[in-house]
Amino acid sequence: MPAPDLETIVSLAKRRGFVFPSAEIYGGFANTYDYGPLGVELKRNIREAWWKSMVRDRDDVVGIDAALITNPNVWVASGHVANFTDPLVDCRKCQMRFRLDHLEEGAYGEVRRNAAGQVVCPNDGGELTEPRMFNMMFKTQVGPVADETAVAYLPPETAQGMFVNFENVVTSMRRKLPFGIAQARTSFRNEITPGKFIFRTLEFEQMEMEFFCKPGTDLEWYRYWVDERLRWYTEVVGIDPSRLRLREHAKEELSHYSAGTTDIEYLFPWGWGELEGVADRTDYDLKAHSAQSGHPISYFDEESGEHLVPYVVEPAAGLSRTLAVVLLDVYTEEPDEKGDSRVVLKFRPNIAPIKVAVLPLSKNEKLRPLARRVYDLVRPKWMTQYDETQSIGRRYRRQDEIGTPFCVTVDFDSLEDDAVTIRERDSQEQLRVPIGGLVAALNERLDC
Ligand code: ATP
Repeated sequence: MPAPDLETIVSLAKRRGFVFPSAEIYGGFANTYDYGPLGVELKRNIREAWWKSMVRDRDDVVGIDAALITNPNVWVASGHVANFTDPLVDCRKCQMRFRLDHLEEGAYGEVRRNAAGQVVCPNDGGELTEPRMFNMMFKTQVGPVADETAVAYLPPETAQGMFVNFENVVTSMRRKLPFGIAQARTSFRNEITPGKFIFRTLEFEQMEMEFFCKPGTDLEWYRYWVDERLRWYTEVVGIDPSRLRLREHAKEELSHYSAGTTDIEYLFPWGWGELEGVADRTDYDLKAHSAQSGHPISYFDEESGEHLVPYVVEPAAGLSRTLAVVLLDVYTEEPDEKGDSRVVLKFRPNIAPIKVAVLPLSKNEKLRPLARRVYDLVRPKWMTQYDETQSIGRRYRRQDEIGTPFCVTVDFDSLEDDAVTIRERDSQEQLRVPIGGLVAALNERLDC
């Protein structure tokens, strides 16, 4: 099935409690969204799946949670104060503002040019102002006096927390190269161009890992992490592999610190777009922090008896962007049991916000006590919903539309045979199981 258009997903996300435009009663706020009851579960599940694959299931990666607001020298050393800028242009006719690099990449459709070959406004062909460089970090102030010494920044990425804590982790955790430090948390960027839903927002969550290795082994680890991260999207998150591709940056496109970068891209409704970047960052960051802080960061290699500065490979993923991809990817329209059309979100069970719905066949005093007992059996183990309003068919549709893998129906026979029906979301097959064996039967099928 072709990918749905963005409007379909935005509308379902709002209707079913995944993602709401932020502060909607005030007319919203550009490029900001709130996560609703199902969105927050979905986001947690994706973050958990990442943490499990990157930290819990491995012996060579540990996690941290660094402060958001920290010493501003961190952002001087990282290059963000000087270089984290975008070229902004305004249309002299319609006053719309664009990022020149986005216009040149064709992000607004075919690139329009004037007779002199200069890029012009994609809306009305108006002439554009000279580009002005604009720093994308949000500034804030620490303490009561608003002078330059009080300036601090909201973090535009999570990576620097891992670099400045490199030595703390080596000594406290007795780590030897190669090893990684991972972190999943919020980042902020003053994005001035209109985002596409949660693809590009002011505030977003990232999942990043810095993998420290010996110089000379970095390219090997870079290849390893590109493959491993692609595998994670297909095998763990369940994204359709035909909508994913790897795009290696050409030499002239590489960041100043990078010896190699590969983007993992997804086929969005508007074309291919970055989902994650895997970069060989060399020893750039640790050396930059050594120079800025005056505190030389190095690692004592017991094998060679020498101090060295590790190289770093970084898989940097966007959690909010992955959530958008998951919604687009699992959306399906197909016939239901009766041949009517149904919308199904085919989440892998580990990602699904609600794993099980317990549904008495009808809203009936006789069924309710048993149905509540079944609910109490299931809910300690999985995120479960209890729903007794409207017809059973409608409730199945509702659960399909939020991607619940299993519905458990309690009917009048259940009062006699102490058994319930499990309905599977994708096949719509139904299976009768004794209540005593329900948790085991679900466990076998959910595997999470
Ligand atoms: P883009 O080119 O799309 O702006 P980037 O190359 O600047 O992304 P990185 O700095 O490599 O992005 O950040 C790693 C990941 O963080 C991206 O692949 C993306 O998934 C996510 N990300 C970056 N900026 C945003 C944003 N404004 N909103 C949501 N996610 C973002």
